[in-house]
Amino acid sequence: TLPVAAADRHLVRIVIVGHVDHGKSTLIGRLLHETGGITPQKLDQLKAISARRGMPFEWSFLLDSLQAERDQGITIDTSQIRFQTPSRDIILIDAPGHAEFLRNMITGAAQADAALLLIDAAEGVRDQTRRHGYLLHLLGVKQVTVVVNKMDRVDFAEPVFRAIENEIAAYLAGLGVRASAVIPISAREGDSVSARGARTPWYEGPTVLEALDGFEPARAPGDLPLRLPVQAVYKFDDRRIIAGRIETGELEVGEEIVFQPSGKTAVVKTIETWPAPPAGREVRALEAGAPAAITLDREIFVERGEIVAKPSARPHAARRIRVRLFWLADEKLEVGTQLIARLATSEARATVAAVHQVVDPGHLSTFEATGIGRNQVGEVELALSRPIAADPHGVNPRTGRVALEIGGRIAGGGLVVSVLD
Ligand code: GDP
Repeated sequence: TLPVAAADRHLVRIVIVGHVDHGKSTLIGRLLHETGGITPQKLDQLKAISARRGMPFEWSFLLDSLQAERDQGITIDTSQIRFQTPSRDIILIDAPGHAEFLRNMITGAAQADAALLLIDAAEGVRDQTRRHGYLLHLLGVKQVTVVVNKMDRVDFAEPVFRAIENEIAAYLAGLGVRASAVIPISAREGDSVSARGARTPWYEGPTVLEALDGFEPARAPGDLPLRLPVQAVYKFDDRRIIAGRIETGELEVGEEIVFQPSGKTAVVKTIETWPAPPAGREVRALEAGAPAAITLDREIFVERGEIVAKPSARPHAARRIRVRLFWLADEKLEVGTQLIARLATSEARATVAAVHQVVDPGHLSTFEATGIGRNQVGEVELALSRPIAADPHGVNPRTGRVALEIGGRIAGGGLVVSVLD
């Protein structure tokens, strides 16, 4: 009999967030180096280049050099930085300092399983630190480790560290997030990145590498119903092949499925791992996390954007949704604002029908307002131009996300709170 295709059990997708200049790129450069993600020759080469230019070597050059290779098309994997800890394959899902960083995070293209939140020891918790913490909470990233960087700037003083630790822990606790660890490090000098720093004898917790190694890979709960957002439909010979990634649940050959919102039904004839043919491998069943290509027992016309589910537990065909969102654009989000809403692989025009409470994540204060401004969080009702398959985030965190665009730019995003119609 055919095998079952499973998702990778060692893969953890992380984001590294924090105020600009607090040391995200430096930490990544360090991690790449200390996990063997960059060859010693490459490192020597980069050091020689900086020496020649008469500037001090920066660990962040490692990232820049990867970026340069990428731009020249040398690196095959074009979007992600990878490295290994003893028991995990870590994928860094976005380069920090990237202008599109917040945008990428909220679109859900970057679906993080865990996060490192960085704070400069000499600067302390800043508004941007709090906003990023809030965003992690909003996006449902539950595994968060706080890294207090640049401890060398404060002479590795424990009281400085404890004050920051207390402040950020209190802020995160206010959001219902518990930091798995708060780690004092110097990314530049290497303390407590992979080897315990001798200059923080008062610290007994994990190093950054140990914290990463302790993160749990994403495991879509088996008890969640099947959700397979259709990414593409291919005509191949006389077969119609439906491709996408199983976000939750399982799919087996011979099962009846329904496409939402169209409501069309069919029986699964074959399942192949994706990229499908000719490279695909035929399987009997597929678990959450695995990319799939399926064929059906009958010819039906289905489109990108529909969600494959089982008839007994299908997503809503939603026309009106309540969304909790983070707003990034300069223009205020108000009743009547027109947007494009993207849910999973689908999109529709949307109009803001109502604005509810607004929160300032810098201070966690809530107030009544008629519109949501830049860097604020709020809840709105969106009227959609056509039905879209949607689940409330509380029901299915993997498909209950929405990204909002204005004029082709990501302007905000967040979670589907409820389906109103
Ligand atoms: P990012 O904007 O968060 O990616 O920050 P970078 O990694 O680019 O770092 C910003 C600046 O802080 C650079 O000049 C780094 O050399 C410096 N930096 C980073 N980590 C440390 C550290 O541990 N100690 C000190 N003293 N400086 C650091």
